[in-house]
Amino acid sequence: KSRKENKSSFIFFSEEFERKIKEKIEIERELREVLKNKKEEFTVLYQPIYNLKTMKISKLEALVRWSSSKFGEIPPSRFINISEETGLIKEISNIVLDRVCNQILLWKRKGLDIKVSINISPIEFMDRDFVDRLLSKLRPSCLEKNISIEITENVLIENVLESREKIKKLKEQGIDILLDDFGKGYSSLTYLKKFPISMLKIDREFIKDLPKDKEDVEIVKTIVKLSEILQIETVAEGIESREQLEILKNIGCTYGQGFFLGKPLYPSEIERIFPSNIH
Ligand code: C2E
Ligand code: MG
Ligand code: MG
Ligand code: MG
Repeated sequence: KSRKENKSSFIFFSEEFERKIKEKIEIERELREVLKNKKEEFTVLYQPIYNLKTMKISKLEALVRWSSSKFGEIPPSRFINISEETGLIKEISNIVLDRVCNQILLWKRKGLDIKVSINISPIEFMDRDFVDRLLSKLRPSCLEKNISIEITENVLIENVLESREKIKKLKEQGIDILLDDFGKGYSSLTYLKKFPISMLKIDREFIKDLPKDKEDVEIVKTIVKLSEILQIETVAEGIESREQLEILKNIGCTYGQGFFLGKPLYPSEIERIFPSNIH
């Protein structure tokens, strides 16, 4: 490389870096503003999780959306990290949980008993009184059995004893724990024995090249087999084609989620596919 090239790539790098920092600062500033005065900019969408044996919806995953009046639609990948770093995630999570609880109650009034799974950031889960705060939200409306939470494996491995206590306490109250993005991190299946996990969500990374990638086929088979031994259910994330769905059914993966089965939907759209589809 010539010196000139090096120089320009350095300039490019620093400009890119500066742009990213600026964007981060702007998003953080706007997040604070929204959390103070414009909470309605957040909405929650619901993506169905199907039982692949019956092809009926088993539960829904709640996914937050931010329609910013300033920046337009901002995907979670661009604001969840920032909100974790700044501690704002707690407030966002409160909004999501409130919305979900209200929605479940509305659905109950319409005769639909729907289970919803909520994503919990590691930061939140590690919070000393996370379990108590969650329970005190759910208890007044008896929503414990309607809610499950999704956490990632790294949070468990970094805080084994504490996490086990928390998960036990949640389970005792009827709240299931799903392990999200399984396979992305350390993914020690033997570790799972230590925790009363209900479901393991196999990361999209292992699903996206099925059925072509034979290595991935074997990995998914192994995860499903070991989960059976540990009596943990498996959910395949990110199913985008019929071929993927078919091979996952053949492998024996019990649950599945993905654009091929259903995109994240508004509550009214969910109602349209229920109750013919329930359980
Ligand atoms: P996740 O929990 O692993 O959620 C699955 C993500 O994959 C969602 O992206 C979903 O829209 C997307 N997805 C579902 N099916 C398919 C598919 O077939 N193909 C592809 N390419 N993608 C699919 P989304 O909604 O953008 O969320 C991204 C991540 O942001 C989530 O990953 C989760 O970690 C986080 N997140 C979303 N909502 C919340 C929330 O309310 N609280 C917290 N703490 N995190 C959230
Ligand atoms: Mg999730
Ligand atoms: Mg996931
Ligand atoms: Mg995730």
